[in-house]
Amino acid sequence: MTADAVTSSTAAPGADYADTASAAYRAALQVIETVEPRIAAATRKELADQRDSLKLIASENYASPAVLLTMGTWLSDKYAEGTIGHRFYAGCQNVDVVESVAAEHARELFGAPYAYAQPHSGIDANLVAFWAILATRVEAPGLAELGAKHVNDLSEADWESLRNKLGNQRLMGMSLDAGGHLTHGFRPNISGKMFHQRSYGTDPETGLLDYDALAAAAREFKPLILVGGYSAYPRRVDFAKLREIADEVGATLMVDMAHFAGLVAGKVFTGDEDPVPHAHVTTTTTHKSLRGPRGGLVLAQPEYSDAVDKGCPMVLGGPLSHVMAAKAVALAEARQPSFQAYAQRVADNAKSLAEGFLKRGARLVTGGTDNHIVLLDVTSFGLTGRQAESALLDAGVVTNRNSIPADPNGAWYTSGIRFGTPALTTRGFGAAEFDRVAELVVDVLQNTQPNSTGPTGFSKAKYTLADGTAERVHAASAEMLAANPLYPGLTL
Ligand code: PLP
Repeated sequence: MTADAVTSSTAAPGADYADTASAAYRAALQVIETVEPRIAAATRKELADQRDSLKLIASENYASPAVLLTMGTWLSDKYAEGTIGHRFYAGCQNVDVVESVAAEHARELFGAPYAYAQPHSGIDANLVAFWAILATRVEAPGLAELGAKHVNDLSEADWESLRNKLGNQRLMGMSLDAGGHLTHGFRPNISGKMFHQRSYGTDPETGLLDYDALAAAAREFKPLILVGGYSAYPRRVDFAKLREIADEVGATLMVDMAHFAGLVAGKVFTGDEDPVPHAHVTTTTTHKSLRGPRGGLVLAQPEYSDAVDKGCPMVLGGPLSHVMAAKAVALAEARQPSFQAYAQRVADNAKSLAEGFLKRGARLVTGGTDNHIVLLDVTSFGLTGRQAESALLDAGVVTNRNSIPADPNGAWYTSGIRFGTPALTTRGFGAAEFDRVAELVVDVLQNTQPNSTGPTGFSKAKYTLADGTAERVHAASAEMLAANPLYPGLTL
């Protein structure tokens, strides 16, 4: 089997080797059953549940059986703290191969001079990036001023001075309610505590990024780190412009492309929309639109690579070698031409979903999409995000509630529902199916009423779904799901 055979269609990869994968999973589950049957049962049930629901969570996908199987090996048993060729443990020659292959695929796929495959998750990748930027921009001059002493020779006063320098830097990222991620300086997250932070938002009228306002805020605040990237912004970003702004104010541009890495890998975002050539440091998860195992990656320009390479042990513990192996397999899949077709379909399907909502009278943040995300404002249905999310789940539609700009219901109840197309596109859904999905979602929301709490008004959490709605929507989605099976040919 060639690597291309793995992803020879835009539908779920793995059909080509389904019999072999079925045998492997059956054997694995039998083995697990002999030790802890409840875990085997929950694993089987998870597959059944995923097969039976309309998964529209924008940050989820279905990794191929090749990627999933790669994680279940003895590579998991090896400690390999350090970097390729320089480990704190003996016997890491095979992990060196694994990490080198993962990094090589990442460099080639994204055209990055340097790639670091160790981060265990997206948050870890961002912590490594923060560390690398601080170490490159702050710690080295700090140490130089202290006379470039060996760490063992630093006095308590030296350390105090260093801590003050490292701990008093500025970071500017997109606000959570405009679509940023909590690691981009949100107060409850460590990024909002370790840095003096300021956030940029979107234009209150259009919901779009306002680059002039962003530049003005950056000129005033002068951040050390300007963070680009988002979790819930349904539009493309001009990263060349962000780099211009960063250069003007002396900031390091760090882009977190966790959400849209698949669209970068699949060459849907190119030129100014591709963050990798513009950012000093780019971070990502590997499990969202990129369709790999749960994990993170850091890509860096040469001036930051030495510091990123020290992610372990400065920030991370021992690398998850089995997951790095699965990253390598997923990145190899993403380098196939069929992944580009998949990524284009993800974006086309999001447009179809957005148009399906708009033609049925729903309001979308920014009025549409040009990436993989659609953000629906559910206040026009008289609902909170929490009520809409629960009612949709009752009907077998899996989404997540999300803040919208200037959200009247706050970050817990919210006023939005975020939809994403990567997962169902992997199953083979196309434009017609996504239009039907919009119809089903609108059907559910139009048939959901918030529960009255008497004279005090309406509950933000409780709701009533009209009789028959869940059954009607379940039946309609079951037809589409059956026509686009998850892991076709895979039997347990
Ligand atoms: N960065 C962005 C933009 C994200 O959307 C997310 C997750 O949703 C993360 C980072 C964190 O990733 P993880 O859950 O792997 O830590």
